[in-house]
Amino acid sequence: MKTSETEVLIVGAGPTGLVLALWLKRLGVDLKIIDKAAAPGETSRAIAVQARTLEFYRQFGIADDVLAAGIRVERLAVRTPSGTAATLKLGDFGAGLSPYPFAFALPQDIHERILIDHLEKAGAAVERRAELVGFEQDAAGVSATVMKDGETEVIRAAFLCGADGASSTVRHGLKLGFPGGTYEQCFYVADVEARNAPNGLNVCLDTHGFAIVLPVRQSGSVRLIGVVPGDHAASEAIGFETIRAEVERITGVTVKAVNWFSTYRLHHRVAEHFRVGRVFLAGDAGHIHSPAGGQGMNTGIGDAVNLGWKLAAVLGGRGDPRVLNSYEPERIVFARRLIKTTDQVFRVITSRSALVGLWRRYLLPKMIALLVANRAGARLAFRTVSQIGIAYGNSILSRGAAGRVRGGDRLPYVEGLVHVDGSAGDNFAPLCSLDWQIHVYGAASPTFRAALAATGIPIHAFAWTPAAGEVGLTRDAAYLLRPDGHVAVAIEAQDPAALLSYIEEFAIKIDTAARGPQ
Ligand SMILES: Cc1cc2nc3c(=O)[nH]c(=O)nc-3n(C[C@H](O)[C@H](O)[C@H](O)COP(=O)(O)OP(=O)(O)OC[C@H]3O[C@@H](n4cnc5c(N)ncnc54)[C@H](O)[C@@H]3O)c2cc1C
Repeated sequence: MKTSETEVLIVGAGPTGLVLALWLKRLGVDLKIIDKAAAPGETSRAIAVQARTLEFYRQFGIADDVLAAGIRVERLAVRTPSGTAATLKLGDFGAGLSPYPFAFALPQDIHERILIDHLEKAGAAVERRAELVGFEQDAAGVSATVMKDGETEVIRAAFLCGADGASSTVRHGLKLGFPGGTYEQCFYVADVEARNAPNGLNVCLDTHGFAIVLPVRQSGSVRLIGVVPGDHAASEAIGFETIRAEVERITGVTVKAVNWFSTYRLHHRVAEHFRVGRVFLAGDAGHIHSPAGGQGMNTGIGDAVNLGWKLAAVLGGRGDPRVLNSYEPERIVFARRLIKTTDQVFRVITSRSALVGLWRRYLLPKMIALLVANRAGARLAFRTVSQIGIAYGNSILSRGAAGRVRGGDRLPYVEGLVHVDGSAGDNFAPLCSLDWQIHVYGAASPTFRAALAATGIPIHAFAWTPAAGEVGLTRDAAYLLRPDGHVAVAIEAQDPAALLSYIEEFAIKIDTAARGPQ
């Protein structure tokens, strides 16, 4: 029997496992990533890549490649069988809120290939046809049993991460419940060539149901998603032809050819825990829900980033092990809230009640039109969907408030800044170090700099601009930032003692090895 050792064993090379591997690799962690599948997935599945995900990708230098492979969704239309009820020019509808203020679509198979390429360039490769079949943990590590090509290998790792999808072997191995439910209706997803493909993202509402039409690839094929209509609503065993007439009626799309068609049942579930000892769950292994809002994959990627920097800190002796205790509370709260919200939205848009059907067909389009007609509504929609509003206010790692910015918030984005070193740009640029840092918008006093010099944590001071005030930052306040761009400590005054005691409490050390985008 073969044996091997590593610091982190990642089970599952979907988007969650791949992003975790990339982040860890950038931070110099020794890892293995295994997947039981012989090859990466070849279907488009999750398409929406949210702004928060792109912000993380910018941090580790892959955002441009991802952007080059997908398309910006420029327009949202709400359609009913009588025509277009509302149109919103999306464009940069989140302008000023993120470096990526638009809606962006990239099929999951292409997305995964980009992640795999970058992982390989970083010196790690996915071990394929390698299936986790069991594991045991003790105080010092985890011993995982993996079957590969009929051979057994025991991999000893300091930590194990289950990014192994909805049927997670890791979650089962931990004997964790996956409470929630399964929706009665069956869903379809079809990637088709259309004779009259509409532009942009189209939400089609009718008394009998709903569908979404959106672009998939630059070639002009479109994705149709909806509840399986009519008498087949609870049936998974159908082909596209069975529902073609009803789908074409709801969407207004005439289908020339079907490239991919699948039906599936949706669940809404969150695991009881995301961590047991040295074993973690991330992505679909920990939470699954309806695709309403395109949140699933992006939430898994958010889990991976949150866990990645914490594992690297603890393994590298640059953070107290208690830092890892914050992973579950930070991410499970968001997952539970997300499932509640998507569940409510989903029940309304799929309800078969005649009354709700009439509301969906006649009133909902008008409500959406009103919401998106004004700039504030469009910005609210961007904030809600893009995941930039995710905050960890109740985390053990979050302290203080300065202006409207609290510990746990994602650092608000500000462009058009001048750094004290003379460079011009935005305040997210320094986050590419993937390490702790302090931001001051105004001037960092020499006493403050001197008091923190021994920590090695860089202080980025940007000349004050009203734009910083508009996003809630306070002039001359100090913001200690975590490697994932969330505020750890926000203090109105440049009080080094408050930061030093936090840095000492969590044993935070800066990584002196060269890192960041490679
Ligand atoms: C038809 C379809 C349409 C979807 N549409 C959307 C959408 O529009 N928007 C959205 O946000 N989400 C959508 N999703 C969900 C989205 O695809 C998932 O949220 C996303 O793939 C989760 O990523 P993950 O890495 O956590 O898990 P997965 O992508 O499921 O990856 C898990 C990996 O673990 C591997 N694995 C499992 N068990 C083991 C084991 N024991 N040993 C080794 N490897 C193992 C699997 O082979 C797999 O590669 C859709 C899913 C499907 C199926």
